[in-house]
Amino acid sequence: MRESIPGFVFEPYTSLLFVPVGRKHPEIRSIGHKEERAILSRVQQIVSAEIAALSPEEHLLLEQFLAASDVRLPIGISKKERLYPHFIKPVMFLWKKHSLKRGLPLQDDLFYDVRYGTLSADELVFHVKQLVKEYVFYARIDQAPPHTWLEKIKEAYADHPFISLARSKKNVIEAVEVMNKSSLLAVLKYPEDLAFWRHRVEIVMRPYRQIPADWKWSVCTHEKELTLHYEEDALLCSCPACSFSVKWNLFNGRVELPNEVSIEQAVKRIATIERQFNEIALQSMNVIEGLRTLQQLKQQLAPYEEIIRSCAGEAHPAVLFSLSLRDATFPEEQIEPDLLSLSHVKLPDVTLLKKAEHIRFDTLQKELLQLHEELKEQALLRQPKPTDVLFHIGEFHLTRSDVLAVTDFLQETDINMTLHLLAQLLKGTATAKIRQLELHHASIFGLLAAWPDKYIVKAVKAAIPLG
Ligand SMILES: [Zn+2]
Repeated sequence: MRESIPGFVFEPYTSLLFVPVGRKHPEIRSIGHKEERAILSRVQQIVSAEIAALSPEEHLLLEQFLAASDVRLPIGISKKERLYPHFIKPVMFLWKKHSLKRGLPLQDDLFYDVRYGTLSADELVFHVKQLVKEYVFYARIDQAPPHTWLEKIKEAYADHPFISLARSKKNVIEAVEVMNKSSLLAVLKYPEDLAFWRHRVEIVMRPYRQIPADWKWSVCTHEKELTLHYEEDALLCSCPACSFSVKWNLFNGRVELPNEVSIEQAVKRIATIERQFNEIALQSMNVIEGLRTLQQLKQQLAPYEEIIRSCAGEAHPAVLFSLSLRDATFPEEQIEPDLLSLSHVKLPDVTLLKKAEHIRFDTLQKELLQLHEELKEQALLRQPKPTDVLFHIGEFHLTRSDVLAVTDFLQETDINMTLHLLAQLLKGTATAKIRQLELHHASIFGLLAAWPDKYIVKAVKAAIPLG
């Protein structure tokens, strides 16, 4: 008789299903070599007692799991119709179908380690009892596909009191982490209060830091692995990418974190570190005032962004101050002496606070505009002019406009200009060749008529690129 889990039933072992393991198995015609009959009889006896002890619900679950009209424990049969010495783990059948032709895969992790033939009578009873319980647990999980369980786990994770707390205090948790590394800690009062606060932060933030970034407020989006832990009625949901896993209990529907904390304590602690920091901030109103000044200056300087950028190369105090301020960030609203507000302050250079005491926007604006004007004028002076002398020898000057006239001509003409021919042309010597090429009508004919020939050659070599 063939069952849906591919196997065979033999009298008198009616509670067992014999299943080929390993590759390509022929039909099994008989079972139980002499020495195996004793152990099979014991297994049959224990299994039938365990099956009889199942509740109707468990019975039904196992029938469905093993896709059979009756509950039978699958027993592996290896080559030559011998018993495979290890019982099959239920994970073999979880969310899977196997074919009789190929037999069950011979994979160590799909079988129990223990060789059941070597167990004492008591040990065998214990092993089979555990095994039937495990089968029942797997049968429950097999009722729904993995994604259904994953959805339940995701919901339960989001509902976990610590994760809910973290989500509701997300702004405070993030603010604490930012503030703990902030440059402002160097200027707030008093160092001993800050040292104490930071010490508390290390303790209070530990459980939040133990959760990977992608799991902080809800389950991460990576591919998950589900493994069953029947001893705890739990599914272990792991993310290999995050190296993190949580346990979900099938019966109470709750998620268990790797490190559970007292929620009551966590609620108090997160409130306390926020309050303690706010007290520190209140002690440092001079810093808050300084930050407000900087915040205002930054807003006032915003329209001068282009001007500041154009002066960026200058070591002028107004420029240096404006550039440092440009790298700073402030909250949109006025800065308040509290954790959330100050966590939005990024001040790469805290010496700005000192400088802000002496700086007024009017002065800053005036200095920047003045510097910008000066730079513009200097740039204008540096601009090339037609009268710039690009080459000179003795009293003879070759100006930028002369050079331009020659290079423009060279670009337009199709005539292959040698140094010699160009020198003659610039000198204005109407040789037969120049006449033949119509060059005596060229715009640059005689441009350097007053120059000695040898100077013309030198000037061309120095200032005019040929071909
Ligand atoms: Zn992940």
